[in-house]
Amino acid sequence: MNYNKFMDRNTVCLQGLNIDTFDINSALEYACNISGQVVTLNPEMVINAGKNPAFASIINKAELVIPDGVGVELGLKILGHNVKRIAGIEFSRKLIDLYAKAGRSIAFVGAKPEILEKAIQNLKAETPEIEVAYAHDGYFKDDEQILSELKNVNPALVFVALGSPKQEEFIAKAKTIIPAALMIGVGGSFDVWSGVVQRAPKIYQVLCIEWLYRTVKDPKRFKRIFPTLPLFVLKVFKEKLFGRV
Ligand code: UDP
Repeated sequence: MNYNKFMDRNTVCLQGLNIDTFDINSALEYACNISGQVVTLNPEMVINAGKNPAFASIINKAELVIPDGVGVELGLKILGHNVKRIAGIEFSRKLIDLYAKAGRSIAFVGAKPEILEKAIQNLKAETPEIEVAYAHDGYFKDDEQILSELKNVNPALVFVALGSPKQEEFIAKAKTIIPAALMIGVGGSFDVWSGVVQRAPKIYQVLCIEWLYRTVKDPKRFKRIFPTLPLFVLKVFKEKLFGRV
């Protein structure tokens, strides 16, 4: 992968995962100069990686790992690292503008067909320079077919919205097929860009409690968030006191 020779990664370790410490502007600049995989890491993914070594390995082989959300920021703070979170959706939206303005093509893979279509339509209305190289919904059976179509269009940037760990696994495979592309797993971002799901109001964002808003709006998430967040904090405290065991 072709790294920007003026910028070096500086990573810190949380639960055996290496996380970059760039601020958002440096992360964007770095991302624009590399190819490979960007992971937007949240506590749920950290817990999953602890149970799934193949997933942990994908994260540690990624070219950029950004701390997405207040949970990872807090975890790093407990370990004594002051790293500011970078919201994956904001990072991705800014990447779109940078790539569009540079005339570099973008592919979108994931979400339901109507969500995907609406998201692209809204993005194009905001940033008419976007060159959409490829779009496919996220409900496909055959990865190989999508990968071969991506290879044909050879996009510069690929957003993959399949939820985690599916999207990270897909990107890890895609890296060998389209090595020149930058690829990022974006979870529910297409749903937000489509306008069907609202991002939390600013006040929740400022108070770092977007997760609370999302859980209240979609109580199904409660089951997902609530065993995970306390377990995450507990594991990080254990790491601080006893190291990784
Ligand atoms: N999704 C998909 N294919 C699948 C499973 C999920 O395209 O097989 C899409 C789903 O429609 C949604 C996105 O993946 O747009 C993210 O899902 P989720 O809300 O689980 O993501 P997260 O909470 O991890 O951001």
